Amino acid sequence: GKMTNEYKPYEQFRVVKEDYGNPDKVPRATFFTLVRNSEMYGLIASIERLEQRFNKRMNYDWVFMNDVPFTKEFIDRTSAMVSGTARYGIIPHEHWSYPDWIDQNRARAVRESRKFANVVYGGSESYRHMCRFNSKFFYKHPIMEDYDLYWRVEPDVEFMCDIQEDPFKYLATTGTMYGFTIAFQEFAVTIETLWGTAMEYFRKESVKSQLPALQTPEDSLLGFVSDDQGGNYNMCHFWTNFEIANLTLWRSPLYEGFADYLDHAGGFFYERWGDAPVHSIAVSMMLKPSQVHVFQDISYKHTVAGTCPLDDDRLKSAHCICDPLGDWTISGQECNKKFLEVSKQPTLKDFKKYDQ
Ligand code: GDP
Ligand code: MN
Repeated sequence: GKMTNEYKPYEQFRVVKEDYGNPDKVPRATFFTLVRNSEMYGLIASIERLEQRFNKRMNYDWVFMNDVPFTKEFIDRTSAMVSGTARYGIIPHEHWSYPDWIDQNRARAVRESRKFANVVYGGSESYRHMCRFNSKFFYKHPIMEDYDLYWRVEPDVEFMCDIQEDPFKYLATTGTMYGFTIAFQEFAVTIETLWGTAMEYFRKESVKSQLPALQTPEDSLLGFVSDDQGGNYNMCHFWTNFEIANLTLWRSPLYEGFADYLDHAGGFFYERWGDAPVHSIAVSMMLKPSQVHVFQDISYKHTVAGTCPLDDDRLKSAHCICDPLGDWTISGQECNKKFLEVSKQPTLKDFKKYDQ
């Protein structure tokens, strides 16, 4: 078995489900959800959709994490929805608080500044801890030691087609390190110094590390994040509310050094750096195009953006309820298309018909 009966440090509770003996299941893969107790209803809606469309056949584990203990009601209601084992983790205080080099008065002044007044989450303190946690710490939680692959899920998301092929298996068999569905454009005011800080680090590291974006820029994902060969950030990022990735990516000295470098620069608190641009810049610098995959066959929706497979046969065979004309890739924001071009990943069969 992949886990012991003993709880890990910072594991609040575990609800073990019987092993269905599913031979197709990739060992050491789990869903992962950071969530508040107050978001329980939005979350069980997400779980229900993902179970119906996929996990009821697979029974993968689900790891829930919170900066405060989960309520008994939350544990009861969510564990009842998951077909695999459900595990509940508490975030260590050091992973959700200010490091000693941060000037908290300056951080407060930033949150209260006019500059961030009309910026989404610009005034929020907890949002900044959340983004820093997702950038630097989630993969270090003791529960995550039991896993190699994770699929991040948030409350109130929708899956509008059957997920016919196991994305975990796709990662495991193809050597893909990072998968996404939606790419989005960041609000520039939240990351004014992120690109400069990131490039400082990666240029320094490129002496000893292989970085496709700097060594072989024409055969890399640099063009996904920069329209001028690395001079400026074009604001494109993988929308991390959906991400399926191999944890060894984040556990590498190169990424750990990056997260640390960013953390010391202070932008999680003095600006509002999101984990999405942080992950995306790292992925685009560190990985080859063949190691990153857009799951065009998964129909996923979160708030303002949703995808739908541009393949008429798939729409029927996967019992889709989405409208292909509403697919995000052909919506006008260019980041998904930019990824497809830069990575040379083929589009689905009816892409041209719908992309008018
Ligand atoms: P958005 O997707 O950028 O609008 O951000 P969300 O508000 O959806 O937050 C991203 C994820 O982090 C969601 O899964 C939230 O449930 C979770 N989250 C955000 N803030 C907190 C927090 O203060 N505590 C906990 N435990 N989870 C949080
Ligand atoms: Mn969200």
